[in-house]
Amino acid sequence: MIEGVEVVRHPRARVARLSVDPATGRVRLTVPKRMALAKAVAWAGEKADWIAAQRAKLPQGRPFVDGAAVPVADRQVRLRWEAGASRTVTLVTDRHPGEGRGPWSRHDADSSRQLATTTSPQRRLGSPAARCDAPLPEDPSLRWGDDQADTFILTCGGPIEQFPVRIERWLKREALRVLAEDTAYYAAKAGVTVAQVAIGDPKARWGSCSSTGTIRYSWRLLLAPGHVRRATVAHEVAHRVHMHHGPAFHALVAELFEGDPDAARRWLRAEGAGLHWFGRASSSG
Ligand SMILES: [Zn+2]
Repeated sequence: MIEGVEVVRHPRARVARLSVDPATGRVRLTVPKRMALAKAVAWAGEKADWIAAQRAKLPQGRPFVDGAAVPVADRQVRLRWEAGASRTVTLVTDRHPGEGRGPWSRHDADSSRQLATTTSPQRRLGSPAARCDAPLPEDPSLRWGDDQADTFILTCGGPIEQFPVRIERWLKREALRVLAEDTAYYAAKAGVTVAQVAIGDPKARWGSCSSTGTIRYSWRLLLAPGHVRRATVAHEVAHRVHMHHGPAFHALVAELFEGDPDAARRWLRAEGAGLHWFGRASSSG
């Protein structure tokens, strides 16, 4: 066996194949049904240099440690462990020192943000509560994007070994909050309901929408640029109207998301794997 290589038999594979998953760093040897395992492993053994080169190209691990910078929406957030401080993770900004709350907290719902009633009847899938003549929820992009603060510090005390876990827990909670707000925003705009918003940490997808109305996201979308996160949300909310990827679906995504959804998809294809390395110590395994 080669160290750290996962061996998978594949009934339809025609040749032995090595691949490295950029999201996990996992190296996989795919073996055709009829090929002897020993032969495939021997072949992979000769490719050690290639494997090492691919591993070297993987994104850097970005552990949540004191002093690390973490992107949140379009901001950089600096992590700080302070001996003797409270164990509760607190976000501090230069404009709100010591207040312990994000700058977004002071944005009240803007009553001018009302959507004209232009929904076509067939889009009214939801309950009356989600109709488009209700005021739209606040645009969530304001919270992490529209403030003057330039320094964001996420800080807590407690035992230093628990610092990474506390930070990750805070980021996940913030991800759920922001993604739920994004979802409410686009659902109101589309005139649909969403039964539940949930987050997880899947390696292969950024979002999914079930036929029962539950939308799940990767919490790591919080670490992506705001337009990428929001385009992903608009995509999943549009599935509450169209459970396919046809022209009508794409037209609706474009209508909901006031930007270029393709740019967001391109970003995720090029940079998305890197998001999976936040909170991990190294890219070696
Ligand atoms: Zn889709």
